[in-house]
Amino acid sequence: MTALLIATRNAHKAGEIRAMLGNKFHYLTLTGFPDAPHVVEDAGTFAGNAKKKTVELARWLAVANDSRLTTHGSRVFVLADDSGLEVDALDGDPGVHSARFAALDSNQLVNCADAANNAKLLRLLANVPMVKRTARFRCVIALTPVMLEKVERASPVCYADKFAMQTALFKGTCEGRILFEPRGQGGFGYDPLFVPEGFEQTFAELGEDVKNRLSHRARALAKLKKRLQTLAGG
Ligand code: IMP
Repeated sequence: MTALLIATRNAHKAGEIRAMLGNKFHYLTLTGFPDAPHVVEDAGTFAGNAKKKTVELARWLAVANDSRLTTHGSRVFVLADDSGLEVDALDGDPGVHSARFAALDSNQLVNCADAANNAKLLRLLANVPMVKRTARFRCVIALTPVMLEKVERASPVCYADKFAMQTALFKGTCEGRILFEPRGQGGFGYDPLFVPEGFEQTFAELGEDVKNRLSHRARALAKLKKRLQTLAGG
């Protein structure tokens, strides 16, 4: 059975990914690997951050040649996502800084409370009319194979390149617009401010079922699922 290490400690995110990908895989998360390196998400793009996470973790796992992986099957992949909101009137901000948008003012690299990020977004868009409040959520998922058997034969540099070259990216977007005030209790992050195209309610009002059909993450996961089905032969 193919094993997938989901590079997150967030149980909600891991659950969402498992539900979407189904039960053909053996799932692991970083919660089971407390000694895994913390990967700093400092790339300038979602793809760069997602790939950095999977490549660094796959390399670490291959060198560790950990029995937690080998007992679960012949093929092991690391899977990571990076996502965020791009607002056209802000030239694509908050973008890769979505989680720490409010703290950027004080040059800090720390995640902020959703309410603080949302308040900053509303402040910056205060004078922008509805017609110009277009935005999109973007998600990129990276998938890197853990090449356990080759570690002894390759030089460390070639080995690192090999992981990067074997990485596949799966992208999803969800277009919409930003309201003037938050609405709804569901979801997380910028959901109470974001109305997806073709709807009048925010992601926070629409609920999980609808969001999980439309969202940037759902769209990227659907592409990943197709690829994994090919790899798993079915
Ligand atoms: P991450 O990729 O899970 O680290 O997400 C980065 C940040 O983007 C989150 O902290 C949220 O602020 C924002 N974000 C990503 N996806 C969503 C979403 O589906 N709804 C609302 N906010 C999101």
